[in-house]
Amino acid sequence: MSLGADFVVHSATKYLSGHNDLLAGVVVGSAAGLEPIRKLQAVQGNVSDPHNAYLLGRGLKTLPLRVERQNESALKLAHFLEGQPYVARVYYPGLSSHPSHAVARRQMKGFGGVVSFELRGDGKATSRFVDALRWPSIASSFGGVDSLVEQTWLISYADTSVEQRAALGVGENLVRYSVGLEDPDDLIADLDQALGALGPAWAAPKRATT
Ligand SMILES: *Cc1c(COP(=O)(O)O)cnc(C)c1O
Repeated sequence: MSLGADFVVHSATKYLSGHNDLLAGVVVGSAAGLEPIRKLQAVQGNVSDPHNAYLLGRGLKTLPLRVERQNESALKLAHFLEGQPYVARVYYPGLSSHPSHAVARRQMKGFGGVVSFELRGDGKATSRFVDALRWPSIASSFGGVDSLVEQTWLISYADTSVEQRAALGVGENLVRYSVGLEDPDDLIADLDQALGALGPAWAAPKRATT
C-alpha cells in the first residue's frame, strides 16, 4: 500500500499458510473500500472454517523465517542454474540478468521462492529432467516448506490452447521450481544430477551466443 495500491490481495494458500494444506485469501484496504467486499463475502458465504483458520494461524507464526530462507535458497538455485550449459534461460528477479531486476531491488526485500527456467531441449527431454529430480515432488500449490517442481506446459497450463501458451511464453521446456526449506546444497546437487542424467539427446548442448 505504501507503493500506491488501493487494495492488496494475498493468496493465503501459498506462503502465508506455508504447508500446502489449506485454501484461503486476504484482501487488505481501507475500511470504506472494503465495505462492498465484506457485503459480497457475507452474501456468498465463503468464510474460512475453524480448522482452516487454525492451520493458517499456525503457519503465520513461521512466515518470516520460512520466507527469508526460501528467498536465500532460491537465489542460490537461480545462480547455479544460470551457469549450467543445459539451461537456456533463468527467470528470477534476484538475478541481474532479469529485465525487472532494478524495480525488484527497489520494491522487494527478497526475491521469492519460485525459480523458473528453460532447458535447452524439447518437451520430452524436459520431462526426463523433471522426472530425474529426487528432492522436489511434482505438484502445484507452490510456496510451502517442501520443494515442488512442475513442467508448466503439462500441469498449470494443460487446459489452455497451444496458441495461448505460446502467447503467455509458456514453452514445453519451461520448468517452475518452488524452493522449500531443504538444505539448498542438497537441492543444487539434485539439480546437478538431473541435468547430468539427460543422456544422448543432450550430448552436445550449444551455448547461446547472444
Ligand atoms: C494455488 C492453488 C490453488 C488455489 O489458490 P488460491 O490462491 O487460494 O486461489 C488451487 N489449486 C492449486 C493447484 C494451486 O496451486
